[in-house]
Amino acid sequence: MAKLPSVPTGDDLPIVVIAGRPNVGKSTLFNRLVGRRQALVADTPGVTRDRKEAECTVRGRRIRLIDTAGLEESAPDTLYGRMRASSESAVAQADLVVFCIDARAGITPADEHFAAWIRRQGRPVLLVANKAEGRQGAAAAMEAFALGLGTPLAISAEHGEGLSELMGEIADRMPPEAPAEPVVEPPQYGEDGEELDERPPGPLRLAIVGRPNAGKSTLLNRLLGEERMITGPEPGLTRDSVTVLLHDEDGPIQLVDTAGLRRRARVEDGLEKMSTSATIEALKMAEVVVLALDATLGVHEQDLQIARLIEREGRCCVLALNKWDAVEDRIATRQAISDRIETSLAQMRGIPVVSFSALTGANVHKLLPVVRRAHEVWNKRIPTGALNRWFEMMLERHSPPLVGGRRLKLRYMTQAKARPPTFILFGTRAELLPEDYQRYLVNGLREAFDLPGTPIRLLLRGTR
Ligand code: GDP
Ligand code: GDP
Repeated sequence: MAKLPSVPTGDDLPIVVIAGRPNVGKSTLFNRLVGRRQALVADTPGVTRDRKEAECTVRGRRIRLIDTAGLEESAPDTLYGRMRASSESAVAQADLVVFCIDARAGITPADEHFAAWIRRQGRPVLLVANKAEGRQGAAAAMEAFALGLGTPLAISAEHGEGLSELMGEIADRMPPEAPAEPVVEPPQYGEDGEELDERPPGPLRLAIVGRPNAGKSTLLNRLLGEERMITGPEPGLTRDSVTVLLHDEDGPIQLVDTAGLRRRARVEDGLEKMSTSATIEALKMAEVVVLALDATLGVHEQDLQIARLIEREGRCCVLALNKWDAVEDRIATRQAISDRIETSLAQMRGIPVVSFSALTGANVHKLLPVVRRAHEVWNKRIPTGALNRWFEMMLERHSPPLVGGRRLKLRYMTQAKARPPTFILFGTRAELLPEDYQRYLVNGLREAFDLPGTPIRLLLRGTR
């Protein structure tokens, strides 16, 4: 057998190796991380024959990324055997092995075999469950726990989900940089010492939405006027979206798809209609959404509709009661609005509310700190130990109900991801858990772990 070339290490870049059996999506992931469609991707096992290498940047850190051929077990003189030999030399030099499985296919014997092999190589491993798109994806991904390679990170290489978390995890595991490099970011902790989820690079992304005339443009101008606009509109993701960066003392915030600017950018065309598709477009780009209301009008059904869209997209929401200068009975108004929100938006209980006047500027400065706080909640990570101590207490307080005459056995919970906080509940026939018990748990999570206002997802995972 011809000797395989070893991995070039002429420069000192850390080496990250993507490994896994054929067809789990390694090439797709490689392309995503490298940012170019470089490796051939096809739906036939074993299409990627040669090792692909590229230099790329994750979180500002240059790395050498290697996409191995499938680590398929077989005799060394077969094609698979040669591939495996190729993987071996790459893995041996890896600073990190990104071990991929296919969450939709579940754990196969080949995955188990290579997980065991990878463990024996003694290199740091990051377990990635690919093809985990959609709401059920994270739950499917958790099966990979069984491989004994740590907590699986659910991603979808093809749909671009979970990639910023992945990049953060990779960057965190890189060896310390040469001393010449100045920036070493400390880990971030929440108020109670929980580690916060990895942030995607760049500023917090904020959208301001609301019905026409709520005062969105006025608010935008006020924010930009007070906080100084640093960069002008730049080409956005969609034809007529607009992005603006503003800075306050806590750092930059990127305003995405601001309807106000958008409207002004167009030729004067009379009354603006609320476009649901434009709102959804803005939500998708944002992390935090400010829903602006004209407080003199109270809460309108359309406002609730927008709030539900925000919940559905899993974004965190801050309710902005604008035109507060024109409100006569402030206490009664605030109470009426809060009551309406609490009863109509139970799935976002504790939603932060700020009142101000965009027109006069009074109290507008309160908005951004609330936005940042909401963003932290949305990013929060609950340690599994604390989560399960709480969970046991909840089970004791109220036993899970009988379903079909038999009691459900709920075993444990884990937080699969943040942004928004997403939990997986494992147990025998857990998927049958009635909605009121799910609500009991979600409301309990919100209170126990201080998660006001954010959407919370609870995924049920039946085990045998
Ligand atoms: P490799 O053999 O491990 O390099 O896998 P490929 O990157 O060639 O991907 C195998 C197949 O899985 C291709 O058809 C991809 O389009 C598909 N695939 C890759 N990533 C995803 C994903 O995140 N979700 C889904 N549904 N399919 C994916
Ligand atoms: P948009 O359609 O949501 O962008 O709303 P605009 O920013 O264009 O504001 C609609 C109208 O409400 C304008 O006449 C504004 O001057 C007025 N307005 C905006 N903010 C305030 C406010 O805080 N108080 C009062 N009294 N009027 C406001």
